[in-house]
Amino acid sequence: MVNEDGPIVGIDLGTTNSVVAAVIDGQAQVLGEEGEKLLPSVVALDQQGRLITGIVARNQLAAFPDRTIASIKRRMGSMEKVSLGDQAFTPPEISAMILRRLRDRASRALGQPVARAVITVPAFFDEHQRQATIEAGELAGLKVERFINEPTAATLVYHAGSHDRKQILVYDFGGGTFDVSIVRMERGVIEVLSSKGDTHLGGDDLDRLLLDYVADKFQEEHTLDLRENTSTRYRLLQACEQAKIHLSTEESVQLTEEFIAEKDGQPLNLVMTVTRAEFEELIAPLVERTISSVDEAVRDAALTIHQLDDLVLVGGSTRIPLVEKRLREEFLREPSRAVDPDLAVALGAAVQAAMIDGQSIGPVLVDITGHTLGIEVFEGFSFSGPKLAFSPIIHRNSPLPARYEDAYRTLHDEQERVEIHVLQGEHAEVERNRSIGKFLLDLETGGGDRSKIIVRFDLSLDGTLSVTATQPATGASKELTIKNALSQFQAEERDHAQARLGSLFESSAELLEDEELAANHHWAREDAAHGNASRNAKFPAAYALLEQAQRVRASVSGEDAEEIQTLVEQLKQALDAEDQATVTRLSEELDDILFYVQ
Ligand code: AMP
Repeated sequence: MVNEDGPIVGIDLGTTNSVVAAVIDGQAQVLGEEGEKLLPSVVALDQQGRLITGIVARNQLAAFPDRTIASIKRRMGSMEKVSLGDQAFTPPEISAMILRRLRDRASRALGQPVARAVITVPAFFDEHQRQATIEAGELAGLKVERFINEPTAATLVYHAGSHDRKQILVYDFGGGTFDVSIVRMERGVIEVLSSKGDTHLGGDDLDRLLLDYVADKFQEEHTLDLRENTSTRYRLLQACEQAKIHLSTEESVQLTEEFIAEKDGQPLNLVMTVTRAEFEELIAPLVERTISSVDEAVRDAALTIHQLDDLVLVGGSTRIPLVEKRLREEFLREPSRAVDPDLAVALGAAVQAAMIDGQSIGPVLVDITGHTLGIEVFEGFSFSGPKLAFSPIIHRNSPLPARYEDAYRTLHDEQERVEIHVLQGEHAEVERNRSIGKFLLDLETGGGDRSKIIVRFDLSLDGTLSVTATQPATGASKELTIKNALSQFQAEERDHAQARLGSLFESSAELLEDEELAANHHWAREDAAHGNASRNAKFPAAYALLEQAQRVRASVSGEDAEEIQTLVEQLKQALDAEDQATVTRLSEELDDILFYVQ
């Protein structure tokens, strides 16, 4: 059966490697290319300035670090740009290049264009990081239908369809991130009881530890630091990664790199033996950090180790014997390894994608939020002035979608407005949390019931947070949707990014042309007639205006906000009806009011 919106694929957008998979004839399968299942998450420009991705890009990392980018996932959610050749790109733009390649892989393998995906993210990705991933998808022409946490995806692969009650620990140690979740399955429903993780801990860190160890020893011997030259450092890093992988099966490894440096006009070779014991001593503190997170996750889930039924290992770094040994010692049981730890997450995402598509496979998923969300409140006065505190509304590990509300009071009866400052984090002190948005609500004064304010948080499955503040006595209310507030792109910037990537994609010999992608496919033509993407293309200015209006509305109050809201609703209806004349009229009105308000 073919869904008229086209197939949905599951994507593991990893720090080191990415994988795309889909359910075909009831079986989750990896969609590879020329026998390769993993796509190294590396993008680069070749000597002619053309875009290259995957293995070819990874191979040039050492030789051309200025033209090659790896591990971009670590920067998702930050505003920091990275240079590729003579241009600077945002992290979503770079991730879009990887996603575009995966989308092409999937379109080729399935024989039809793919425009929708379930993308996995570490359970600990915050709203900024998820938003950046949605933007990467959009730039690559993929609608992100849903995020699922990586450990949750792995559970789906192992236990889809099981009806027994089970409590499973998923330990995911990949290239760039570490994540542990306690998951409960019961009567076909999967619920994440707790999640802990570290978005900056992975196999890459182990490579760097080994690199420092080797470089220090080399420096002692030759008084020359191999880390100073960028391309030598990359070359050594790759050699260290290979050595690390060998040490998972061998007791010792010899690193041999000829002509790695030059001193006094003489070439220097690196020849060094590293034993597994030496390597284990280096990495033990990091492995212990992961074990502490596991203990915390078990505690957060209000369980004991003995209540866990299964231990699922995910990610390439779980092949390290020390990791397995420590887990066996802690949990007194053998971990499950039936599915390749590199592919489990993508396969689970494919299972979830098939479920969204209406195919009945496996259990229902209940996801959780990885962070606490709340607002800033006044707690009294201290010597240094007013004392503010963080008041949580949605607690970490709450199942999604989540809707919670709390009641607050104004400071005094004559207060005319109240600021709702939305924060994300786990600390009582305001400054130690992350500010994710704020807005003002105008109040009617007079005390009594009027001093009561209700703040409601609605967190959707895709991580969009709606915050509504209401004065129940008068009905005065205002809402803020954080998705827009978190966006890294303004509408014009996104158009610019799309155009820029479009020309890079065109230059790439690896990627399918857009027309090629859509050629002769029924649903693609259907989409052109009815789909969102085509409506977006038909009324790009109106859609850009809508986004701008939503951002502006979040920062104004009273009549202006209401007027903008009314016009936004009317414009959306006109867009749905594809009523060109009304779209034009309403766009002009909305444009006028935005101009006036700003
Ligand atoms: P992933 O993000 O799951 O693709 O994991 C990639 C990470 O796993 C990289 O840091 C690899 O170096 C590491 N890795 C892959 N295979 C092994 C192995 N046999 N032993 C140790 N680390 C490995």
